[in-house]
Amino acid sequence: MTDADCIFCKIVAGDIPSTQVRETERVIAFRDLYPKAPTHVLVIPKDHYANVAELAAADPALAGEVLAVAAEVAAAEGVDGPGWRLFANTGADGGQDVFHVHFHVVGGKPLGPMVAA
Ligand code: 5GP
Ligand code: ZN
Repeated sequence: MTDADCIFCKIVAGDIPSTQVRETERVIAFRDLYPKAPTHVLVIPKDHYANVAELAAADPALAGEVLAVAAEVAAAEGVDGPGWRLFANTGADGGQDVFHVHFHVVGGKPLGPMVAA
């Protein structure tokens, strides 16, 4: 499943370059183009789902695989010791800009409060 207008589908296809850090048969992880911390990696299913709800409903095993890859990325980046954050912005209030589900793996510095007041 791909969406012709989706930038992350284009990254999966190799039509837009990215710095990939991990790949499985159904999941890729690549560095965020505008990192907010020393480690800022995006983990996505290769198939297009708009958000976490769609992914979890359609393919819970794939959702689990995405989480497992996120944890592997954190370990490979060396942030599993000091700590890291995993989040998926969803919808307008959640601040989602790209509507291909993605989990942010962020760490490498103290990240502060979870949500700005
Ligand atoms: P969202 O705001 O949807 O949660 O996150 C989208 C993320 O994708 C942002 O952190 C943004 O920096 C990143 N991003 C947007 N376009 C590109 C791109 O073309 N390549 C990469 N590697 N990251 C991108
Ligand atoms: Zn997509």
